[in-house]
Amino acid sequence: AEAELIRVQRFESLAMLAGGLSHDLRNLLQPLLLAGDSLLDYQEDPRLARLGALVRDCGRRGLEMVQSMLSFARGARRAEQVKARAVLDALSLLLQGSVPRGVQLDIELNDAELSFEGNHTELQQCLLNLCLNAIQAMPGGGILRVVASKAKLDTSFLLEQEEAQPGDYVRLSVADTGQGMSEEVRGRLFEPFFTTKDGGTGLGLLSCRRIVYSHGGVMRVDSLLGEGTCFDLYIPVTRAVAETTELVDGDGSLHGN
Ligand code: ADP
Repeated sequence: AEAELIRVQRFESLAMLAGGLSHDLRNLLQPLLLAGDSLLDYQEDPRLARLGALVRDCGRRGLEMVQSMLSFARGARRAEQVKARAVLDALSLLLQGSVPRGVQLDIELNDAELSFEGNHTELQQCLLNLCLNAIQAMPGGGILRVVASKAKLDTSFLLEQEEAQPGDYVRLSVADTGQGMSEEVRGRLFEPFFTTKDGGTGLGLLSCRRIVYSHGGVMRVDSLLGEGTCFDLYIPVTRAVAETTELVDGDGSLHGN
C-alpha cells in the first residue's frame, strides 16, 4: 500500500506540474495567436501574411497540446456525481450554432436519473469533440444522434490497456450518417496527430479516449464506409474500489486516479 501511495503521490505531482505549466503556457500562447491573426491582415505584404499564418498555426497547435496536458492534469482530480441529463443539456447548448442546416440533431436520454461518477467538464468536452467530428463527416447533411442509456459492457474482448470491470455502465453514443471511414483510418484513429483533415490536429479522439480511460471506461467505434460512424463511450456508474493498477502506462494513457 505504501508503494501504491508513493505512486499516487508521484502521479499527482506530475499532474500538478502539467496543470501549472499548461496554465502558464496558455497565457503565453494566447497573445501570440492574436499577433498571428493581426499579421494575417497585412494583405499588401504577402510575406507578413505568411508569417502570420505560421505564427497562428503554431500557436493553435501549442494550444491543443496545452489543452491535452490540462485534461491530463484534470484526470487526477477527484470524481463527482455527474448527471447524464446535465451533460446532454450542456452539450446541446454548446452545439447551438455549430449544427449546419442540413444536419438534424437528436439528443436522447433514456433514463432521466442516469448518473455516474466522473468529471462533468471532461465528458462534455469529449462528447463535443465527437459531435464536431460527426458534423464534419456529414458535409452533405444527415442525422447526428446522441443517446445516453444504461448498459452492460461485454468485458470478454478488452484491449490490453483497458481496465474496465464488469458492472453497470452508462453508455454515451454519438452516431452520424456521414461518410464513415476506411479500415486504414479506423485502425489509426487514436494515433497522436493522425488526421485526414486539412488543419486537423489529430488529437481529439486520443484525448477523448484518455478521458474515458481515466473514468475506468472504454470507447468503442463502429463505422461503415459511406454509411456512418458510431462512437460508444462506456462509463462505469461507480468506480471500482480496488484501483491498484498502473496509473500511467507506456503510451501515457490514464488508467485511474
Ligand atoms: P481531427 O478531427 O483533428 O482530425 P481526431 O482525433 O478527432 O482529429 O480524428 C482523427 C480522424 O478520425 C479524423 O481526421 C477523421 O479521419 C476520423 N474521424 C473521426 N471521427 C469521424 C467520424 N465521425 N466519421 C468519419 N471519420 C471520423
